[in-house]
Amino acid sequence: MSSEAVPVLDLSRQYAALGAEIQAAVADVCSAGRFVLGQEVRAFEQAVERDYRITGAIGCASGTDALWLAMAALGIGPGDAVITTPFSFFATASSILRVGATPVFADIDPVSMNLSASSVAEVLREHTGDRIRAILPVHLYGQCADWDALSALAAEHGLTLVEDAAQAFGASWRGVYAGALGDTAAFSFYPTKNLSAWGDAGMTTARDAAVAERATALRAHGMRRRYYHDEVGWNSRLDTVQAAVLLIKLKHIAHWNQQRARVAARYTDLLTAAGITGSVRDGAVLLPTADPRGTHVWHQYVIRTLRRDDLRAHLAERKIGSEIYYPLCLHQQDALEHLGYKTGQFPESEKAAATVLALPIYPELREDEQDRVVEAIASFFR
Ligand SMILES: *Cc1c(COP(=O)(O)O)cnc(C)c1O
Repeated sequence: MSSEAVPVLDLSRQYAALGAEIQAAVADVCSAGRFVLGQEVRAFEQAVERDYRITGAIGCASGTDALWLAMAALGIGPGDAVITTPFSFFATASSILRVGATPVFADIDPVSMNLSASSVAEVLREHTGDRIRAILPVHLYGQCADWDALSALAAEHGLTLVEDAAQAFGASWRGVYAGALGDTAAFSFYPTKNLSAWGDAGMTTARDAAVAERATALRAHGMRRRYYHDEVGWNSRLDTVQAAVLLIKLKHIAHWNQQRARVAARYTDLLTAAGITGSVRDGAVLLPTADPRGTHVWHQYVIRTLRRDDLRAHLAERKIGSEIYYPLCLHQQDALEHLGYKTGQFPESEKAAATVLALPIYPELREDEQDRVVEAIASFFR
């Protein structure tokens, strides 16, 4: 058996395949000298709109900014509350605070680990305080949240839906792509995401033309006419270099997502054949599943086990990378203590935080490497 390391992510393989083509595109941007919001930015936005049937796509500086823009353009602000999941990256909640609104948490579904519509319904029944304006589900690990249930709730209560699609470029629900499901949505092109830039980049999408137009203005200091400011926005312009990188990678993302799905299916087959799978409570490995109503893009392949930390150390000893997304829920973060939540309030989220482990998954992951990952996991449980 080879003892070469299997990193949790290896971007050098994608670079080896596309580096020369991308460098030529970057050189064009440099010689044209239009480094911010150049023609590649609009070309990238239009390509996303066309390929993913999204009405308004607005490139911006990061996924975090995209979330802020997605809410600011809807007019969500002070005095408003937004319901979201406590089992996500910090930016999901901090962007709500950044628009001046209050995050209100609801627990996750134990199977998908996405925001649970029944928990949201409970919050809507019991919530007092700031007026709830929106629901902000996260398409965690590349799988769309239950859009049937969430959109029914939003319609019933007159709420807007904002998607955190940072991990789900190309995912879909009943044939509609992430980014076209909600009233607005946010993508991240951070280097570890399934569609990634050569640095920070993001995108807001908006169904309504007026909201898209407002997001476009807010991205550049609320400026519609040069140096005339209609409202206070921010600088969240997208670099032309990043758009040039993304334009090239966009041609490959559908294929890459298929390759991720192939890797995921193979993990499921191999781990099942190893005879170590079952329920978390019985000390076995719980495998991730894909809801048949959607298309999962497998941004992450996340298993669950009560012996997570020991398993992770066992893998590390064998030079196999893994990662924990996320070890501490948002309602338990020191920075959000002022929201007044307590440990124990979101049991499914807390159980997920204690048991999840993401395995190496990327389009270029080789079968022999995957075999080593599975063999190492199996040897831990035997
Ligand atoms: C990555 C991520 C973000 C933030 O994106 P950045 O581009 O890093 O700012 C927001 N939400 C989720 C769920 C993410 O995974």
